[in-house]
Amino acid sequence: MSTTTTSAPSPDHIMGVYNRAPLAVERGRGARLWDTSGEEYLDCVAGIATNGLGHCHPKLVEVLKEQGEKLWHVSNIFRIPGQEELAKRLTDATFADVVFFTNSGTEAIECALKTARKYHTANGQPERVDIIGFDGSFHGRSYAAINAAGNPSYVEGFGPRLPNYIQAKWGEMDALKALIEQPTTAALIFEPVQGEGGARAMPEADLDQIRAWTRENGVLLIYDEVQSGMGRTGKLFAHDWASDAAPDIMCVAKALGGGFPVGACLASAEAAKGMTVGVHGSTFGGNPLAMAVAIAAFDEIAKEETLTNVRDVAGYFAQQLNGLKDRFPDVIVDVRGKGFLIGLKLVPVNREFMGWARDHKLLVAGGGDNCVRLLPPLNLTLDEAREAVEKLEKTCEFARAKAAA
Ligand SMILES: *Cc1c(COP(=O)(O)O)cnc(C)c1O
Repeated sequence: MSTTTTSAPSPDHIMGVYNRAPLAVERGRGARLWDTSGEEYLDCVAGIATNGLGHCHPKLVEVLKEQGEKLWHVSNIFRIPGQEELAKRLTDATFADVVFFTNSGTEAIECALKTARKYHTANGQPERVDIIGFDGSFHGRSYAAINAAGNPSYVEGFGPRLPNYIQAKWGEMDALKALIEQPTTAALIFEPVQGEGGARAMPEADLDQIRAWTRENGVLLIYDEVQSGMGRTGKLFAHDWASDAAPDIMCVAKALGGGFPVGACLASAEAAKGMTVGVHGSTFGGNPLAMAVAIAAFDEIAKEETLTNVRDVAGYFAQQLNGLKDRFPDVIVDVRGKGFLIGLKLVPVNREFMGWARDHKLLVAGGGDNCVRLLPPLNLTLDEAREAVEKLEKTCEFARAKAAA
């Protein structure tokens, strides 16, 4: 029940679903974030891989202001030129022929799964309904997304599991092949580099192999590149590292809008053939404001210069972080991931380590398998990377002293 007392704003009125850091943020610029007391942090969370160009990138700010004066929202019952422009960029850069715009990654996943089942119905095989996902996956928080990922702590207590969502084990290729060969399988969905699950990268040869099996068996391949896409791994999309692994459907979000909420479900014309007038929709998805910002973000991120920076600085990180692991085996047991989707598997509890890093003015994200993730903006400089490593080193020293105490 609500009261009429005039107390100060407080977290008590926010639904308590997040384990939030005791840090109230106020302002950001590039890889820097300041809290309300003026304390400065180096931000290697970047909104969980969302502020791909850092905070308040001048080009995005300019476009946001300009479009804000022009037109924010119209319904999808009208043509929206910005959608057509962004769709051209996305389809020119990928396997895809068509795009559906959403406000989030989860909605892009919903669209992908619906597109896959609808394809088989349109294709005269309505019995193909099974969706295969992997353990350790994260696809968002809708019912379909939590059932596809299957993380027990996200599905429990929400009623019965949805039927026809099947879980495969990451890395167990023979068992996966058998599932793909089932005549009731509609699609396989996974992240080429798992994010939340702890920065696990699928080997490139496995991507090619899975693509071949799904093709041979008439099963649609869906990539969730919500986190791994838009330059995060040093290529525009993580599966671009493999030689012949383009999917039928792909979900993108997070860095697509550089921090503005927008997502997209991309598909080949064939895979999208069931998505006809009236079968799907969104009120906000792809509105002019989101499109203007996302076009500007895309043009910056897709630049060779941005992608080269990720590969170069990621090389430095890999070398330095492996050095830290060798010097602090009592703190870091594994360095994994790809590009700027970096995971450190820890000995101390990752939540505690995140707090210690914060005390050293470095922000890092959590992850499954007791990892912390470094997800810096794609334009992080080598100097900033050096600073991040120094702060991590101090954090490791602190962790070691703490364990000895
Ligand atoms: C964040 C994320 C999602 C969900 O995106 P939302 O915008 O939070 O709905 C889905 N898949 C992956 C891989 C993600 O990292």
